[in-house]
Amino acid sequence: MLGGSVLWFRHGLRLHDNPSLHDAIEDRSAPFFPIFIFDGETAGTKLVGYNRMRYLLEALDDLDTQFKKHGGRLFMIKGKPTDIIRRLWEEFGIRKLCFEQDCEPVWRARDDSVKAACREIGVTCREHVSHTLWEPGTVIRANGGIPPLTYQMFLHTVATIGDPPRPVPNPELCGVQFGFLPECFHEEFTVFDKTPKPEDLGVFLENEDIRMIRWVGGETTALKQMEQRLAVEYQTFCRGSYLPTHGNPDLLGPPISLSPALRFGCLSVRRFYWSVQDLFHKVHQGRLAATHFITGQLIWREYFYTMSVNNPNYGQMAGNPICLDIPWKNPEGDELQRWIEGRTGFPFVDAAMRQLRTEGWLHHAVRNTVASFLTRGTLWLSWEHGLNHFLKYLLDADWSVCAGNWMWVSSSAFEALLDSGDCACPVRLGQRLDPSGEYVRRYVSELGRMPVQYIYEPWKAPIDVQERADCVIGKNYPAPVVNHLVAAQKNRNAMNKLKRSIHGRLQRDKWLMIVGELRNILQKAPPHCCPSSEEEIRQFMWLNEENQHAHNTA
Ligand code: FAD
Ligand code: MG
Repeated sequence: MLGGSVLWFRHGLRLHDNPSLHDAIEDRSAPFFPIFIFDGETAGTKLVGYNRMRYLLEALDDLDTQFKKHGGRLFMIKGKPTDIIRRLWEEFGIRKLCFEQDCEPVWRARDDSVKAACREIGVTCREHVSHTLWEPGTVIRANGGIPPLTYQMFLHTVATIGDPPRPVPNPELCGVQFGFLPECFHEEFTVFDKTPKPEDLGVFLENEDIRMIRWVGGETTALKQMEQRLAVEYQTFCRGSYLPTHGNPDLLGPPISLSPALRFGCLSVRRFYWSVQDLFHKVHQGRLAATHFITGQLIWREYFYTMSVNNPNYGQMAGNPICLDIPWKNPEGDELQRWIEGRTGFPFVDAAMRQLRTEGWLHHAVRNTVASFLTRGTLWLSWEHGLNHFLKYLLDADWSVCAGNWMWVSSSAFEALLDSGDCACPVRLGQRLDPSGEYVRRYVSELGRMPVQYIYEPWKAPIDVQERADCVIGKNYPAPVVNHLVAAQKNRNAMNKLKRSIHGRLQRDKWLMIVGELRNILQKAPPHCCPSSEEEIRQFMWLNEENQHAHNTA
C-alpha cells in the first residue's frame, strides 16, 4: 500500500487558486493522482453539444499538458466515480480524495454516493469551496436558514459575511510524486491515453462554419483572456465607467467574456473578482470608493447558485416553489423547432439562434431577446424548452445560472412584476443594438444582400427588392412564424389575466403558504435578514393588495 491522494476534477479545471490541489499534494512522499471521470454527467456532459464538449476537452488537455511538464499527467477515465475511487484505494491504498465543491443540487446524488463509498473504505473526503465567492450554505445560514430572496438582500447578507477570500497561491508542483495506473485499470475502464475528441465520446459536429468565432478552452487561454479583459476594464475605469460588456454591446467584436472560463473553472472567480477590484483601486487611488457594481455581475452568479442549492426542482416548473405556474401553451406545429434552428423569420432572433448553435455564445442582450421571444414576448412556450436548448449549446451553460435567468426573463420568478409590456421586440431591439444589420448578415447568409432598411423586417420589402436581394420571403427565407405584434398583445392580455387569477384560490393558497413559511423563518432570523419592507416580499411573491389583506386576516 502506497497511500496517496486523488484530486478529482469536475469543474475547477485549473491549477491557480485551487485549494483542493494544495490539499492533495500536501504529502510529497505519497503518490498523487489527478483524475477526470467521464461519468456521463460531470461538468454538464449529460446534455452537451459539440462546442462545449470540445471546450471541456481542451481544458482537460491543458491540465494534462501542465502536469506533463512535471512528470505526471491528468488521468481521463470513463466509468463510475465510486468504482474508480474504490479501485484506486484497493490498488494504492489512497487515503485522501480532494475536490472542489459543486454546489448545485444536480450533483448531490453523485457526491453523496462518493462520500458514502469513501466512508466505507476509510478514505478522507476533502471538499473545498472555490467555485463561488462565498459558500452558498454560509450565505443561507447568515440569512437565517433561507436564501436571500432578492438580489438586494443577497448583497446585504454577503456584506455581513465580509469580503470573499482572496485566491490561494499558485501550487508548487516540483517534487510532487505523480502516481501511475497499472495495466489492469486499462482493462477494467476506458483510460484515455491522450485527451479524447468529442467524437470519441459520442458527440458530433452538427454544423460548421469556419468564419465563426472559435472559443478555446483551458486555463492557459483563460488567464490570457483575463489579461485582455482587464485591459478593457482598465480603459473603462479610466473613463470613469465600469462593466465594459454592458451599455452598448458590440455584437460583432472579438469576445471578451470570461463566462465559459468561469463556468468550467478554467478561471477562478475569486481571481477575476479581486483582479477587477484591485484594478479599480489602482486606477482611482482610493478617490472613488469601489462599489459592488463593478463586479455586480459576478454577484448575480452567486445569487442564482445560492437560490438553487436547496431547490432540486429549480430547473423546472413542477414542484418549484419559486416558479409561477404560467399556463404556457404546448408547441404547435414546428414553431419550437423553428426557434431552435433559427428559422422563425425574425432575422435578429434567427441570427442569434444560429450563432448559439455554431459558436456556443450569445451576448446577454441577445439572450434576453430570444428568451423573451420564446416565452412571454411572442411564442408563449415554456422557458423549460429554452433552458434545455441553452444547456446543450451554450459554452457557459450553467444549470443554476441558466435556469435563474430563464425564470427571470419569462417573468416566472425573481422579476417583481408580470410585466410583459417591455418585452424585447425582435425587430426594434435588433435595430437598436445593430443598426447596420451586420450581425444578421454574418449569421443569416440568406439576408446578405437585403437592404438595411428591411434587414429586420424583410417581409415588408417589396417583391422586386426581395428578388434583387436573392431572398424571396417564403422561398429563400421563412415568413414570420407568427405576427409578433398580435402575439405580443395577446400575451400581455394573458399576463394581465394571470395577475388577476393570482387572486384566485388555488394560486392564493400556494402563495400564502410560502409567505407564511417565510415569515416564520424571517421572524427567527437576525434583523438584517428581514426584507427592507413588506413591499419587497410582496414584489418577490407577486402579491397584490388583496392577497396581503387575505393573509393578514387569515
Ligand atoms: P459580464 O457582464 O462581464 O459578467 C461577468 C461574469 O458574471 C459573467 O462571465 C458571468 O459569469 C456572470 N454573469 C453575468 N451576467 C450574469 C447573469 N445575468 N446571471 C448570472 N451570472 C452572470 N450566464 C452563464 O454564465 N451561464 C448561463 O448558463 C447563462 N444562461 C443565461 C440564460 C439566459 C436566458 C440569459 C438571459 C442569460 C444567461 N446568462 C448565463 C447570463 C449572461 O448572459 C452571461 O453570463 C453573460 O452574457 C456573460 O457575458 P460577460 O462575461 O461579458 O458578462
Ligand atoms: Mg465575463
